[in-house]
Amino acid sequence: MNTIEQVKRRVVLTFPRFIGGQPIITELIREYELEVNIYRAQVTPNEKGYIAIDIIGEESQIEDGLEFIRSFEIDVNLTMNTLLWNKDKCTGCGNCVPHCPTGALYVKDNRSRPIDFHGDKCIECLCCIESCPFGACTSMF
Ligand code: SF4
Ligand code: SF4
Repeated sequence: MNTIEQVKRRVVLTFPRFIGGQPIITELIREYELEVNIYRAQVTPNEKGYIAIDIIGEESQIEDGLEFIRSFEIDVNLTMNTLLWNKDKCTGCGNCVPHCPTGALYVKDNRSRPIDFHGDKCIECLCCIESCPFGACTSMF
């Protein structure tokens, strides 16, 4: 028996102007049979809004679901993190590393201690913002 592979996509949706009453997430679940985990959102009626989600399902259904979202003129970004790490501001002090639960911020080279950021591992918990004394970690919203 063939099983169709399930994949996970991290997606940041940017609403030019959030309008309540659009059952977008509900439709993704019901019509496209996708699993949706919302992990951050900022939505205020009539203002620019953001929803960061993980979508899990079959590749083709995810593509169809994202096309559905785009039909509302919502920007769909598959590579964006809502946690912004500014490499130029980072001094490599390492303070954030023990506070990052997933290793998204990690010591790349123990001798010179340059820190690097692995966006795919970031779960947007924002713990690094408070632990960074140099303002290298900020949030999009
Ligand atoms: S937001 Fe959380 S997971 Fe992402 S880099 Fe910061 S501490 Fe790590
Ligand atoms: S705490 Fe800030 S400055 Fe220090 S390594 Fe982490 S991101 Fe860079």
